[in-house]
Amino acid sequence: MTMVERAGVCTLDCPDTCSLTVTVEADRIVKVRGSHALPYTDGVICNKVAHHTAEFVHGSRRLTAPLMRAGRAAPAGSSA
Ligand code: SF4
Repeated sequence: MTMVERAGVCTLDCPDTCSLTVTVEADRIVKVRGSHALPYTDGVICNKVAHHTAEFVHGSRRLTAPLMRAGRAAPAGSSA
């Protein structure tokens, strides 16, 4: 199967907006590395994205539809 590398950017809610090089095989992410396209991050990405992106995207626990809360919301300021 042919592997291709795609340029990308991390879309997680983080101020770094790291530039990525994503290796894809058969429409599945197989590897994610930092890209030097963005001088600010210069090829560096966090471990979370480097090692768990394929699980986030292809994993069986991925949310595929919006969820609705069951029960009351926690009071403001609580950690529950
Ligand atoms: S790769 Fe990690 S550090 Fe970079 S923007 Fe995404 S979450 Fe933030």
